Amino acid sequence: MKSMIKVEHLRKVYRTGKEKVLALSDINLELQKGEFCCIVGASGSGKSTLLNQLAGLEKPSRGSVMIDGQNVSAMSENQLAVFRQQKLGFVFQSYNLLPTLTATENVALPLMFKGISKRKREALAREQLKKMGLAKRARHKPTEMSGGQQQRVGIARAFVGKPAVIFADEPTGNLDSHTTVQVMNAILSLIREHKITFVMVTHERELAACADRIITLRDGKVLRNETIEHPQAQYIMPDGKNEDDLNDSSFDEDFGEDVPAQQQGAAQNSGPQETAQPQQAEQQVDVQQIGEEIRRMKEETQNTNETTKENSTNE
Ligand code: ADP
Ligand code: MG
Repeated sequence: MKSMIKVEHLRKVYRTGKEKVLALSDINLELQKGEFCCIVGASGSGKSTLLNQLAGLEKPSRGSVMIDGQNVSAMSENQLAVFRQQKLGFVFQSYNLLPTLTATENVALPLMFKGISKRKREALAREQLKKMGLAKRARHKPTEMSGGQQQRVGIARAFVGKPAVIFADEPTGNLDSHTTVQVMNAILSLIREHKITFVMVTHERELAACADRIITLRDGKVLRNETIEHPQAQYIMPDGKNEDDLNDSSFDEDFGEDVPAQQQGAAQNSGPQETAQPQQAEQQVDVQQIGEEIRRMKEETQNTNETTKENSTNE
């Protein structure tokens, strides 16, 4: 099997004023192509920090991260931006969809850098949304969808370009258990079908039952690195009841509690938030990345309008 991610002597120290936080120390690990790896551990153990270093969203203080034979930790910001667009996908706990774009437009975003025409991009985006049971939501904006629907749009966006590696930080953290089953099984079928290396942070150990590898962090160190010989093919709720999977036509219907996003956001904000700070940091990074994407999208739209007028009349 081919090594897809290789981490050597990774260390991350955060400095806030005079204080130093040793978030990760001497992490070593190797993941194969197509492997599903769960990173588990208590809050504050360094899960998000590790994911951010792996994805090249933050620079390590020491050590190296190789992805598909390339040293991510040695890349410049520009090289990283290109590398991320070509090789990586992301799923965030807080969805991070662009509010002014429809589901289709959000999903089509990562395809902008692949030299694919607008028409083809939107067709691929709609196809991916259909796989996520969202065919009827293609023209909806994020605020017109429930949390579970938004996260499925987020997953469609991560998978649409068939990246080599997808990183997900607690992707079901804001979802109810019913929706979690749906979302996890949708992810599972996609990673298995396309042999995508999938690295998922979670603090719910049951979610790791389908993983090929479980890495447990404690105080910024690898406490355990377990290979699972026979991972579960499907995620089953802890109470043993399973719900419809992707092949079930009911996936095409809305499921989960269809709470409008605004209401959900309000509920989240009023609840306890143990990891408020790191989450904010993640969001900032993603906002930067997305800003860059929008800039390119605008440029490209201008170019398309100027050079190939017939394209715009196609739809
Ligand atoms: P987890 O995701 O497992 O909850 P994190 O990776 O977010 O843990 O955090 C690991 C440690 O690093 C914690 O002590 C956290 O407070 C600290 N930390 C994370 N991000 C930052 C940051 N941007 N600045 C300072 N400290 C941070
Ligand atoms: Mg975290």
